Amino acid sequence: MPLILSVAVPGPFRRPLDYLPIPEREPPAIGTRVKVPLGSRPVVGVVLGLEAESRLDPARLRPAIDYLDPTAILDADILELARWAADYYHHPIGEVMARCLPPRHRRPDAAPVRQIRAWQITAAGLACDLDQFARAPAKVRALTHLRETAEPVTAARLNALGIRSGILKQLEALDLVVSRAVFSSGGLAEPVLGGALTLNAGQRQAVSAITEGLDRFGVYLLDGITGSGKTEVYLQAMAAVLQAGRQVLMLVPEIGLTPQTEERLRQRFGEAVATLHSGMTDVARLRAWDRVRLGAARILIGTRSAIFAPMPDLGLIVVDEEHDESYKQQDGLRYSARDLALIRARNRNVAVVLGSATPSLETLHNAQQGRYRHLHLRLRAGSAEPPELRLIDLRRHQASDGFSSPLQQAMAETLAAGNQVLVFLNRRGFAPVLRCSDCGWIADCPRCDARMTVHSRPGGLRCHHCGSARPLPPRCPQCGAPEPMPVGQGTQRTETVLKQRFPDVPVVRIDRDSTASQQALTTAIEQIQTGAPALLVGTQMLAKGHHFPAVTLVAVLDADGGLFSADFRGSERLAQQVLQVAGRAGRAERPGQVLIQTLQPEHPLWPAILDQDYPAFARAALAERRDTGLPPYAHLALLRAEATTRNATWAFLEQAAGRLQANAGSVAVLGPIPALRERLDGRYRAQLLLQCSERPPLHGLLRRGLPELDVLPEARRVRWSLDVDPIDLY
Ligand code: ADP
Ligand code: ZN
Ligand code: ZN
Repeated sequence: MPLILSVAVPGPFRRPLDYLPIPEREPPAIGTRVKVPLGSRPVVGVVLGLEAESRLDPARLRPAIDYLDPTAILDADILELARWAADYYHHPIGEVMARCLPPRHRRPDAAPVRQIRAWQITAAGLACDLDQFARAPAKVRALTHLRETAEPVTAARLNALGIRSGILKQLEALDLVVSRAVFSSGGLAEPVLGGALTLNAGQRQAVSAITEGLDRFGVYLLDGITGSGKTEVYLQAMAAVLQAGRQVLMLVPEIGLTPQTEERLRQRFGEAVATLHSGMTDVARLRAWDRVRLGAARILIGTRSAIFAPMPDLGLIVVDEEHDESYKQQDGLRYSARDLALIRARNRNVAVVLGSATPSLETLHNAQQGRYRHLHLRLRAGSAEPPELRLIDLRRHQASDGFSSPLQQAMAETLAAGNQVLVFLNRRGFAPVLRCSDCGWIADCPRCDARMTVHSRPGGLRCHHCGSARPLPPRCPQCGAPEPMPVGQGTQRTETVLKQRFPDVPVVRIDRDSTASQQALTTAIEQIQTGAPALLVGTQMLAKGHHFPAVTLVAVLDADGGLFSADFRGSERLAQQVLQVAGRAGRAERPGQVLIQTLQPEHPLWPAILDQDYPAFARAALAERRDTGLPPYAHLALLRAEATTRNATWAFLEQAAGRLQANAGSVAVLGPIPALRERLDGRYRAQLLLQCSERPPLHGLLRRGLPELDVLPEARRVRWSLDVDPIDLY
């Protein structure tokens, strides 16, 4: 019987490709990597099936080049998750499978799979006479050590005792020791349990609700105000899972921004913790991936891509700050790690905890529908009181260099009392606009429909959309007047202003420019944590998850952008950002206050925010979404296209709209319309929006329609992509 390998290969293929096995070799197992030819080059694919026949003429099939893994490195759990993601996001299966592998394992020249090796004494090794090694003290030491420990000991640990693997291999040749790969049973790093805090009543209820449901699928929304002790709830639920011999996956929005969470996990659980995020080197990622895959690590803390890490004993998934938009990948496979966490938990029949002080409207809706168990933490843990929020009306109190006089006064008082001030401004750079005060000329990006941002140190104009940069013009290119003026405030300018106004106080800026290196960020955070009076300036990077005990005043310099955002999620984002950044104020014994500058103090969004009544905000926002037919009351997919000419973009989208409309049924096909910034990086962008009150018709239409779009002649002149459940529509 001929055997055909069905292989998921990277590339724009909607199905796995068929290959012939390598003659005379044992066929590979499902879930192993194989090297196969694709066109003229070798690529790494993953075996998804062994079939009796091919849809194609077997004479045209090519044989695989090599089998890379002796046993499956992706288990059934990951294969099932990847299949689900490929189907739901209508994305090529091979591209999805590639996401499941650490970068090192995607390369055709990849090193063989690393196994964690451990050494163990044999019966012969126990019985042998050590005197025969009188002239080889290292061998005596190795045998003595392994005799004392019945358990296998890792090569790394033996190495640390000065016992080289060369010695061990010589002993292995004599059958005195054996090496074996360590798998999940009897994981190497035993989690340390203990150090738990005494829970308050709300935390206790949350922990027992979660731990009672651990052995089956269930979703728990841990809805707790900032500082209410959600992390302690996660830790105690995790401890129960670890005690039962199972593993925990914890997703965090951006790991560099939550070093404290990582630190707390390590303090509590020691060496059993592994970390995985894209800022790590390929080697470090591979190592962490192997440690969890082999069960040596019992807890994995990672960013969104960690949802694809194989965990044989998975017993619980925690998604911290579940509302955070960084869980949604914005290019390639546009997946939501939070949503995949639910799918994976369902497949594995385990619990998943979604935690947030400001849950997404989708999640709240699901909780209200009874699909999730809603757990509340309504009080701050420990002794901290919630902060007080107030608006400053910028029409009555004019700001100079971004700061109104009541705000300046509050800052001076806070610093004088020995506390820290956090200034939040979601705009990096020096100033958002460079303008000629004579003729009104504005520096636009030559490649985008966007203004260029003024930067200082290094000085110049930079486009935040395409990255293009140029020097500051000494004169206006339009009228020749000298020195066009930076208009508006960015974090760099704010930092400069603060240094002038408060020359005796250190100013710490945290944004993507100031923290290009992890080291810079760590240094900045350490400086803040000394607790000495300081001014902190930053973007939302500073608002996320940090615990800064000495901050008692938070200033939101400009909240108005979010009030009138073009995007339907604008107000949700604003409420979340303000409440998250407000949560940085007064987290310890000292009470906190939050001052928000606005030109729109009577905007209907403010009362709920000022009362820190996120549920009231969410009720109103959900009602509005229902009335306007937007998520969670409708399901959306966005078909985006871009090309170097506007014509090419529109020709494709008009064809696509026609094809999709022809059998759209209950799905509304809206557009094409130009993107909010039509030209970006020199390309013209437009989009089609597909909308339906039910999911199945939308996905049915996509399943039938996309293969048709693949072969449109117009498709060859554009880049196009599909975004299922898009985060923003423009
Ligand atoms: P959240 O994640 O909800 O913002 P954290 O878990 O960071 O809150 O907790 C805020 C602070 O309260 C931390 O310093 C934490 O150590 C402390 N804390 C949490 N739970 C308790 C408790 N039960 N008793 C005393 N302190 C607690
Ligand atoms: Zn001019
Ligand atoms: Zn640009």
